[in-house]
Amino acid sequence: MLSLNLNKIRTAQERFEQVYTAEQFGQEADFRVVEPISLTFDIFKDKEQFRLVGRVKTTLELSCGRCLEPFALPVDQTFDLRYQPHAQNTGEGEREIEEDDLTTAFYENDEIDLGQLMREQFYLALPMKPLCAADCKGLCPVCGTNLNRGTCVCSRSWVDPRLEALKQFRTKS
Ligand SMILES: [Zn+2]
Ligand SMILES: [Zn+2]
Repeated sequence: MLSLNLNKIRTAQERFEQVYTAEQFGQEADFRVVEPISLTFDIFKDKEQFRLVGRVKTTLELSCGRCLEPFALPVDQTFDLRYQPHAQNTGEGEREIEEDDLTTAFYENDEIDLGQLMREQFYLALPMKPLCAADCKGLCPVCGTNLNRGTCVCSRSWVDPRLEALKQFRTKS
């Protein structure tokens, strides 16, 4: 775990700068980190509350949603996050997280999980529909040719297999 030991933060404001390798960050299902991650922030301490204001930069590799080819996505996310101690299992005393409170996270055991922080920032940076290019032509649904790179002789009027199945069903009955 890439963690920040809060016991080492002794003054009201400190600067944090670190570079992590892709290996240190680890594996993720939806993307691959392909360049070292630069994480820099100022940390403001107010008793047990901490505020982290900074940025995380790297390059992620995603798969195109149309042609399935990997492509690089440069990431440069700024963040402003508040951390407070995780409420002990008090039940009633635990307050609901309000709408405007989404930037408040919790820490446990005097540690902030920086791996989790970076992971969340990467997910925020991911596009809804990852495409290698806005005009990616995708794959031919019949032969699988990547139409960005080549052409094929398949019929342009592709029939939805679900409709085809429905047609056959109708002919039978
Ligand atoms: Zn593509
Ligand atoms: Zn084809």
